[in-house]
Amino acid sequence: MDLRFSAEDEQYRLQLRQWLEDHRPSEPSPAEQDAAFAYRRAWQRKLCEGGWVGIHWPQAYGGQGATLVQQAIYAQEMARARAPQPANGLGISIVGPTLIEHGTEAQKKRYIPKILNADEIWCQGFSEPNSGSDLASLQTKAVLDGDEFVVNGQKIWTSLGQYADWCILLVRTDPHAPKHKGITFLLVDMHSPGVTVRPLKQITGHAEFNETFFDNVRVPRANVVGDINDGWRIAMTTLTYERGISTLATQVRMKQQLDAMIDYARTSRSNGQTLSQDPVLRQQLATAYIRVEIMLLNLYRGITTQLRGRPPGPEASLTKLYWSELDKWMQELGMTLQGPYAQLMRESKHAVAGDWQYNFLRSRAGTIYSGTSEIQKNIIGERVLGLPKG
Ligand SMILES: Cc1cc2nc3c(=O)[nH]c(=O)nc-3n(C[C@H](O)[C@H](O)[C@H](O)COP(=O)(O)OP(=O)(O)OC[C@H]3O[C@@H](n4cnc5c(N)ncnc54)[C@H](O)[C@@H]3O)c2cc1C
Repeated sequence: MDLRFSAEDEQYRLQLRQWLEDHRPSEPSPAEQDAAFAYRRAWQRKLCEGGWVGIHWPQAYGGQGATLVQQAIYAQEMARARAPQPANGLGISIVGPTLIEHGTEAQKKRYIPKILNADEIWCQGFSEPNSGSDLASLQTKAVLDGDEFVVNGQKIWTSLGQYADWCILLVRTDPHAPKHKGITFLLVDMHSPGVTVRPLKQITGHAEFNETFFDNVRVPRANVVGDINDGWRIAMTTLTYERGISTLATQVRMKQQLDAMIDYARTSRSNGQTLSQDPVLRQQLATAYIRVEIMLLNLYRGITTQLRGRPPGPEASLTKLYWSELDKWMQELGMTLQGPYAQLMRESKHAVAGDWQYNFLRSRAGTIYSGTSEIQKNIIGERVLGLPKG
């Protein structure tokens, strides 16, 4: 494996780095949730004007047709510049690519430009109260009535549903078919009569996701992606995009936080010595350093596999399991380093590293969304190790 980037790719990196230098917001994100969302929306508009949204999409749909390596560089540089996340994360990472692959020309024309410029925000209505890991057991139903579906049911964990204009919704359209076969993939206007969104407050204090109710919501038949009862196949494309290359940005952010932890350990004292002189903490910081480096090398290995023309296989599960469990462990280490100060959120004037508390409280979520750690282990056990089905 050659771990160097080509001169052309390095040129791309410099071009993006310069653009970010010139355009990155000078003010930090506000803490309040609605204001923070507006800030991210404004940032996405700026990115879009510069042609830096959806870079991996074909040029015909507003992207750059960026190569895999350019996407990797993009993820790294965005994180390196500590650029905010664009507001329409789901729209860019999964809805756009799914429509480009499976949508009609009319759907692409109608939805794609407004995904890019954040005029329309998207959410994902897959999970239900009784269907998460076993997604194909979903019960929200849609019945065709003339040229419209009538949708009834409940979704949960709908990230950013309170800001969303549109939803990619999985519904059961044939209750008699085997469970993977009777599902349809719909595009639903979140402003339709009968849609109710109730935010759920998390341990972080933010309400990032929602319960979403559909009560006789009418959806035009033209809003089906793919064919009726073929939604499972479309949803699988969506989930592949969800576990994509953006993990490189996560790696850079984790490295940045680890650097901050190492600085903190060098400069903070406890029991008459700096934290970095404590043999147990030293060991843990060294372990963290090694694990964050391993994460990068594994990601490069995944990219190399794809560059050699092989599809992303169960490696995606290894990556997901590795980074999410590592992140949880590292955030716990951040709390240990702070000792009693770990109890102070950033609002406290005595807080020493206030954002770490938020990261700690948020980190368990990573081991749940996009397939829980147990589900990833099942996939690795069955498809990588060839163990019998559990
Ligand atoms: C921050 C966050 C954002 C999310 N955003 C969205 C969103 O926008 N849209 C959306 O549709 N969903 C979203 N989700 C939902 C997410 O996809 C589900 O939470 C996830 O799939 C798990 O489903 P569940 O919560 O129903 O847990 P369950 O499937 O009920 O699992 C409960 C426990 O049982 C374990 N388990 C289940 N099945 C097995 C098995 N076969 N073998 C071993 N253990 C098993 C699980 O690992 C878990 O520990 C989000 C979740 C989070 C945390």
